[in-house]
Amino acid sequence: MSKIVRALSADGSVLCAAVDSRDIVNEIHRIHRTTPVASAALGRLATAGVIMGSLMKNERDLLTLRLDGGGPAGVITVTADYRGNVRCCANNYNVDLPLNGKGKLDVAGYVGRQGLLGVIRDTGLKEPYAAQVPLVSGEIAEDITGYYAVSEQIPTVCALGVLVDIDLSIKAAGGYMLQLLPPVEEEKIAFIENNIKTMQSVTEMLDSGMTAGEIALLALKGLGGEILDEWEVFYKCDCSRERTGEVLVSLGRKELRKLGESGEKIEVCCHFCDKKYYFEPNEIKFI
Ligand code: ZN
Repeated sequence: MSKIVRALSADGSVLCAAVDSRDIVNEIHRIHRTTPVASAALGRLATAGVIMGSLMKNERDLLTLRLDGGGPAGVITVTADYRGNVRCCANNYNVDLPLNGKGKLDVAGYVGRQGLLGVIRDTGLKEPYAAQVPLVSGEIAEDITGYYAVSEQIPTVCALGVLVDIDLSIKAAGGYMLQLLPPVEEEKIAFIENNIKTMQSVTEMLDSGMTAGEIALLALKGLGGEILDEWEVFYKCDCSRERTGEVLVSLGRKELRKLGESGEKIEVCCHFCDKKYYFEPNEIKFI
């Protein structure tokens, strides 16, 4: 069970959202048959998506994170709804890289270090909110922090982690994000930074049995933090035959006619959940 918890400091100035996303990242591994480094990268970005999705306000709001770092992963895409349910995909899941200098999975090597993180928030307005920031390191948590600093001017601390087991399943995964709400006091930033320094890594904490709620309260230690709410989050794809048909339409009339005339069944596979949809040639002619 993956779970998100939101907590607030007693004076209302610091919000912390923490998530145990092990089941979600296991689902990513199962659907996309990811190698360990791909599990770590997609898992970290999906965990960020859970948190950022849960910070949206309205039922129909949709968040898309698009990470294009120029590495072997290609583009990694995560979408999240306002409850923090996510789905994700990448161009290439089958990449093995040697461990990095710190003996960790080389996420930045897989993502790439030079490129852009795009954040799109569709809140039902004519034009969705869209921003792009250059990557800080390709390790993802720093890139998310960089996005908030540059694009939204919100002081943010973000930690994300995925621990892969020997059998390639996910042993622990999760993350937390702290945000200072205005007016921002400098000494509070220092206080939180100090809290974070004394904490173990996310995966160490989760692997030792700590819950997302305990992690959130630990990050707010000394600030009288209290849990606001918590709920379950899932890997969830809302694809349908109808929407897949729309993808076919977007190929254009000429291309469709060619497909229809080939006389063979057309298979269209959802990039996010690997579900396959079939269209008969005569259906295609009439799309
Ligand atoms: Zn799907």
